[in-house]
Parts: sequence; structure tokens; C-alpha cells
Amino acid sequence: MTRLGTGPAVVVVGRPNVGKSTLFNRITGTRRSIVAPIAGTTRDALEAPANWRRRDFRLIDTGGLFGSTTDPLHDLVVKHGLKAILDADVVIFVVDGREGLVPGDETIAKHVHALGVPVVVAVNKTDDKRARSRALEFHQLGLEPVIEIAAEHGDGVADLLDEVVARLPAGPESARTDAEVEAEKKAEEEDPEIAVAIVGRPNVGKSSLVNRLLREERVLVSEMPGTTRDSIDVLLQWHKKRFRIVDTAGMRKPGRVGHGDQGPVEQVSVVLARRAMERADVVVLVVDAIEGAGDREAAIAGEDEEAGCGIVIAVNKWDLVRGQGQEFVETFDDKLRFQMKFVEYEPLIHLSALTGVHTPRLLETVDRVAQARRKRVPTSELNRFIEEATEANSPVSKSRRDVRILYAAQTGT
Ligand code: GDP
Ligand code: GDP
Repeated sequence: MTRLGTGPAVVVVGRPNVGKSTLFNRITGTRRSIVAPIAGTTRDALEAPANWRRRDFRLIDTGGLFGSTTDPLHDLVVKHGLKAILDADVVIFVVDGREGLVPGDETIAKHVHALGVPVVVAVNKTDDKRARSRALEFHQLGLEPVIEIAAEHGDGVADLLDEVVARLPAGPESARTDAEVEAEKKAEEEDPEIAVAIVGRPNVGKSSLVNRLLREERVLVSEMPGTTRDSIDVLLQWHKKRFRIVDTAGMRKPGRVGHGDQGPVEQVSVVLARRAMERADVVVLVVDAIEGAGDREAAIAGEDEEAGCGIVIAVNKWDLVRGQGQEFVETFDDKLRFQMKFVEYEPLIHLSALTGVHTPRLLETVDRVAQARRKRVPTSELNRFIEEATEANSPVSKSRRDVRILYAAQTGT
């Protein structure tokens, strides 16, 4: 087991709009898809693994920290952001060269200075002429070094990272070579990992299912702390496919509180489900084979529809109802689909976390659903289909005039 989320922390700070997230994405590259925002917001601390000149580190973006705002999220952001800064090994302080030195920068400089950790000042947007002429102003902050960059285009970012890794505490060289890191990034681009949320009411067997998946032989596992203390994502590699099971923390502790409880804990599980869904490509809705589905499952399926993820229904504990004949299976499935009107066509799998029956099929199906959702139909193929369809059934308008569809193209997934 490798732990991805350890190693020195490099924290990016700066006023809103200076280009922190642009820089973050530039450095972490395509890995941004595995970034974990806190609970359904986009402005909180983000963390992703990064690597430069054979040193691994964690890059943390503090989001809206220091922004003066009436946003109710502000407190949360400040709290988490501040905590991230306290843990920093190196701080990248991003300023906007185009605007020059402003009082907000000085406030941040004071905070950062007080921490006593190494700071690298990144004067961003120097692709703009105005910025280049003002870059010198930032030396007044009394923080060195000051590096000119253009995060959007990548200029100066290598120099910036050289300065950053030079200030990291002594540590092991990355086990991976630059070439390996590049290859990994490329693989990620071509076949991005699939974020999976496993949801369902308490006691349906979510934890058992996760643990079963982790025990499967050909599965490579690593854990990655999310941005909140209690959130853990689990990364699985299975047949060269990479899955990220999001928000798994609560599922993996054996002695969870409030197990099977009703009331507040119930609400917590709904909140957790929603939070997980927001980050998922595919949702696995676990249903108990004995209990069947109810309003709650229908509600979750509805939410999921809203969140726009793919969905797979996993009917767990199938070992308890096995051997009851084909008719039982058909009745069970019909009833389930009827109860969850939203999911008429979605795949449904009978499995057992306890015995492992059909659990490999679950990953296979999740992969299929994820690929289908990313599918791009070539324009020629799409138009051939439209042509066939309109030939078979020529479209008419209300006024009965002929309608001709000239051309179709897919503009999104
Ligand atoms: P954050 O609020 O600090 O995370 O800032 P963002 O990364 O969202 O960037 C704010 C704005 O600055 C966006 O419109 C970016 O496109 C722009 N920006 C970021 N980096 C550069 C750069 O290198 N050059 C220029 N000209 N604009 C940039
Ligand atoms: P969670 O609350 O959804 O995470 O559910 P758990 O994984 O804690 O499982 C709840 C109970 O169901 C435990 O007693 C499990 O042993 C049991 N269970 C889970 N999966 C299966 C299964 O496939 N078959 C049977 N018979 N029991 C199961």
C-alpha cells in the first residue's frame, strides 16, 4: 500500500483572482481530476499530489482565503485554509503583476511572514506588458525570492518549482522518474480514473462491499486523505482501470457509531451520500436483497439523476435469497425498477459482499457506465443515424410542413 497523501506540503496563497487555481492546475496537470474539494463547494482547500525534479510533495490551494467576503462559506474556508497554512513546508504566495502591489498583498505577507516558513513569491500574469513593468514593486514585501510567471501559459513555472523544491525539507527522492510521472499523466489523460460513490441506507452492506473490493486479488489499493479530516478516498486499480471510491472513511471503520440507527445518523448518511455523489462519475446504489427498496432509495436515485452521474444498482446480500428460481428474480427486479422510476434502464446487479459473488462484475459495469457517459459519437456516424431515422419516419411539424434535419453534431458528453 502506498500512501499518496503524505509528504511535504506546498501551500498556494494569495488574494482571489490572482491565478492560484490556474497555477494549481498547471502544476498538477491532468491530475486535477483527482482533486478533492471539501463538501460540495468549489472554493475550499484543494489538495493534489505533485512531483518536480524527483521530489514528491502535496500541493494545496487555499481557495478564497483572505478574500473579504460576506460569503457564508468564508469562515469554513478561513478555518481550513489557515490550518493548511500552518502545516505548510513551503508557501507559494501568488500576486497579480498586472495590478501591482495592493494593500491586500501586504496583509497576506504579514500573515505568511509570521509563520516562519520559506516563501516563494510568484508574480503572475507577466504575459501582460503592464505586469512586467510592475513586477519590481513586489520586492517591497520583503519576501524572497520573487519569480515572474504566467500560470496560464506555463512561463516561469519551472523556475518557480525549482525554487520551491530547493526549500523543501530533506526527504527521500521520489521513487518515480520524471519519465514515469509523464507516462502516468498521459495515461490519466487518455483514460481518466473513474470516481465512484457507494451509497445506500445504513446496514445494506456498503462497508462490506468496499472491503470486499479491496480484498479482490488483482486490485491495487492506495488511500488518499480528502481535504476534511474524516474523508478518505480509496484508489483501486483493476485490470488497468483506475477507480476512486470517494468519501470512504466512514465505511472502513469497523466500529462505527450509530450503526443501523434512525434519526440524526440517518441524516448524516444522506448528507454523506449527497456529498459523495457530487464528486462521482458513477453512483453505486446499494439495496438490501431482503429489505428491498423504499422511498429513500427512490429519493437517492432522483438526486443522482439531478447530479448527473451514471448509476448502477447493486442488490446486495443476494446469498440470502439465492436458489429461489428465475421467477423470483424477475419479480424482484420488476418491483425494484417500478419503485425507482428514475432508473428504468440502468444496470442492476445481484451480488454478495459476503461471498464475493458478482463483485468483479460490479467494477466492470461501473467502468462500462462511465465509458458510455464519456462517449463521443463521431459526427459522420451521428448523421448517418439521423438520416436512417428520418428516412424511416420523416419528421413533420405542427403545420404539417416537411421538416428536414440537415445536420447534427454532439457538443458535449
Ligand atoms: P484564483 O482566484 O486566485 O484561483 O484565480 P484563477 O486561477 O481563477 O484566475 C483568475 C483569473 O486570472 C482568470 O481569469 C485567469 O484566466 C486569469 N489568469 C490566471 N493566470 C493568468 C496568466 O498567467 N496570465 C493572464 N493574463 N491571466 C491569468
Ligand atoms: P453499511 O452500514 O451499509 O456499511 O453495512 P455493513 O457493510 O456494515 O453491513 C451490514 C450488515 O450486513 C453486516 O452485519 C454485514 O455482515 C451484513 N452483510 C453485508 N453484506 C452482506 C452479504 O452480501 N450477505 C449477507 N448475508 N450479509 C451481508
